[in-house]
Amino acid sequence: MLQQTTTQRSVVIACILGIWPFSIAAGIEKSPNDPVPTDQTVDDRYFDYQYDQVLDYYIIQAWRGLEQPVPAYTPQMVARHTALVGRLPWVSPTRSADQQMVLGRTPGWPKDPDWPDDPEIPPQIMFGYQITDPDTDGQKVKVVLAAQNHSTEFTGSWVLEGMVNFIASSDPRAVFLRQKAIFYVYPDINPEGRYQAVHRIDLQAAPDPNAGTNMRKRGNPELYAAGERDHNRVWTTEGAFSTIDTITAAMKRDTGGHIDYFWDMHGPQEPANWRSPRLEARLNAYAMALMRREPDVLRCGPPGDFKRNVASGPPGKMSLWAASEAGLNATYPYVYEPGGWTRERLLQSGRNLALALHDVSTRPGTSW
Ligand SMILES: [Zn+2]
Repeated sequence: MLQQTTTQRSVVIACILGIWPFSIAAGIEKSPNDPVPTDQTVDDRYFDYQYDQVLDYYIIQAWRGLEQPVPAYTPQMVARHTALVGRLPWVSPTRSADQQMVLGRTPGWPKDPDWPDDPEIPPQIMFGYQITDPDTDGQKVKVVLAAQNHSTEFTGSWVLEGMVNFIASSDPRAVFLRQKAIFYVYPDINPEGRYQAVHRIDLQAAPDPNAGTNMRKRGNPELYAAGERDHNRVWTTEGAFSTIDTITAAMKRDTGGHIDYFWDMHGPQEPANWRSPRLEARLNAYAMALMRREPDVLRCGPPGDFKRNVASGPPGKMSLWAASEAGLNATYPYVYEPGGWTRERLLQSGRNLALALHDVSTRPGTSW
């Protein structure tokens, strides 16, 4: 299913990036012998990119109060941002990805003659890339970042972009983090669901079991056709869903199956909150740093007990899979539900998640 020539992949990427001015092939493909410029500075404007502002999407309750709706984070934006970040010398494909940072493609949803009103959903691309200083050897802290588990929750994508833009920047704290850590980034772990959400597609052949409620569109056509309704309940399945299989296999192979930190980006939610299935992750130095950097974001569980129940099962949740032995053995797995904020606030929050890691890395006596 994932067998494809490099040429075909380049064509797919080039089509997606049709209006993007950079030479993608020249930008992403790097020789391991290329020198890494030591004096390179990255302007914030580097991370700006043009995109069509899609505002006609299903508005989750926590966003309804905003005067300026937050643009939907489309699959095209994932591709453009990945290509842009991928041009930097400290960004490379993960072990499972090809030179265009493509892990694989989804099967798509072909035209069904029994349901002539149902549109076709083209195969979507799954990306994986890593950010680290290639000139710094030794054991590094492993951090996995994932977004778009739930397809209508664009907040998570904006937070991930803000976090990535900071980590990949010339800020001295980012340079330090890249020397100490390796960040594995999976910016769209449910791309057919995201395509469906952005295009407001209701399939009659594979109806969303939750259509018409606030829980609408938490999956993708493949899940719905199998009677499943929630992309964050199927991470322990194997051989059932193509995106789950591709992403879980890639994450395990890319990281070696043992990681330190894990972020699964969701939202919007009121109040904004983060949580972990591991008690220690609620109490560690990173948790303290997070609360200092984002004092308005609630830590779930005691003492207020907000969302205490959602930290535990069912085991098909991604954070629990990441924490499990069969998954990534993540020491500190986290789920983030940022508030119904503006784009700028979401990007800022992503920077703060990275800055909190820097706070931990510079503590006296730290093991970093
Ligand atoms: Zn969610």
